[in-house]
Amino acid sequence: MDPIRVDVTHDRAAYPVLISPGLSRHLPGLLHAQGVTSQCLVVSAPPIWRLHGARFRRLPGAGARPALLPDGERAKTLDSIDRLYTECVRRRLDRSATIVAVGGGVVGDVAGFAAATYLRGIRIVHVPTTLLAQVDSAIGGKVGVNLPAGKNLVGAFHPPALVVCDPQFLQTLPPREFRSGLYEVVKYGVISSPSLFDTLETSLSAVLARDMDRLTRVIAECCRIKASVVMADEREAGPRRVLNFGHTIGHALEAITKYRRFRHGEAIGHGMLAAAHLSALRGLLTAADEARLAGLIGAMGALPRVTDLSIADALDVVARDKKVVRGQLHFVLARGLGATEIVTDVTRRDLQAAMRHLGMKP
Ligand code: NAD
Repeated sequence: MDPIRVDVTHDRAAYPVLISPGLSRHLPGLLHAQGVTSQCLVVSAPPIWRLHGARFRRLPGAGARPALLPDGERAKTLDSIDRLYTECVRRRLDRSATIVAVGGGVVGDVAGFAAATYLRGIRIVHVPTTLLAQVDSAIGGKVGVNLPAGKNLVGAFHPPALVVCDPQFLQTLPPREFRSGLYEVVKYGVISSPSLFDTLETSLSAVLARDMDRLTRVIAECCRIKASVVMADEREAGPRRVLNFGHTIGHALEAITKYRRFRHGEAIGHGMLAAAHLSALRGLLTAADEARLAGLIGAMGALPRVTDLSIADALDVVARDKKVVRGQLHFVLARGLGATEIVTDVTRRDLQAAMRHLGMKP
């Protein structure tokens, strides 16, 4: 079967996102078809490479010997970038070389930032292996690392040459990681696709069981949505903000628990419930639709608790949020299930009400 193809085109780049189970086994041919014939440096992490590395033995150049980063968020540092530059120099990569990122959002962000800056920019190809990376981080060109002062503080926009989305990778993803990505899928339904939302409601058990056919169609729909948002606004000046639905309060929850309690998607799960409640308070979302969203999120499994977390601490974080532009918080609300409205008049009181709704400590 031919892969599903989603084209991303904007001022600075045009690239395809190809989606199909088993597609990563054909990576050498896909790279060749994209004009990538020179040396490749594969970047991954040990757990991913142990499970899936055998698929990449036939890559051109040094591709078979990957540069392995430490696993997880702790790898998103300038130290990792330094290590990748050293590896690029050691392997004498020139400007025609390509970095191939095989992994989740962390590998993609780090490898992408190294590619954006080594020799003022070489090609990056993303082979995302988590649900979050397949539906979100591999598309759009945002790359970067954390600083001790905060997450994603250094980065660039560096669109990939190709994204190869193989849902088979998700068979080995731990259930919590899978669900974490699924909250972002729910987000796409809420912000832009009533039919995706319906599919999740009606086929949740097949999706959770990782039925390949169902999952492939769901991932493709998310890629289409992410691509259309990115195409409308590559640099996040306006329309791309809709992707932040659930993220204002979600980020605050992650920050006040020092990024230890929640997987990112879980925090967004809570954030979406809070944002939906605010939307309902303003009459943008019916109580029935708010209940549908809560029902879907509830059916995915229990979210980590928030009842011991202080609303005041979370409000402090919101005040410092990147989504505050010139003192104004841009807050994404749901206008029904499938559309959004960005407002700038959400007050401290509104946020308190939304967090109380989650059961947080007054
Ligand atoms: P991750 O990259 O840390 O991966 C999660 C875990 O899953 C890791 O332990 C990894 O080893 C493991 N794993 C990956 N693929 C696997 C597989 N197929 N089988 C078994 N285990 C596998 O986390 P993530 O959720 O993919 O990404 C989170 C990161 O993405 C964050 O740093 C976030 O800032 C970033 N992000 C970036 C963007 C963007 O636009 N660039 C968007 C959203 C998130």
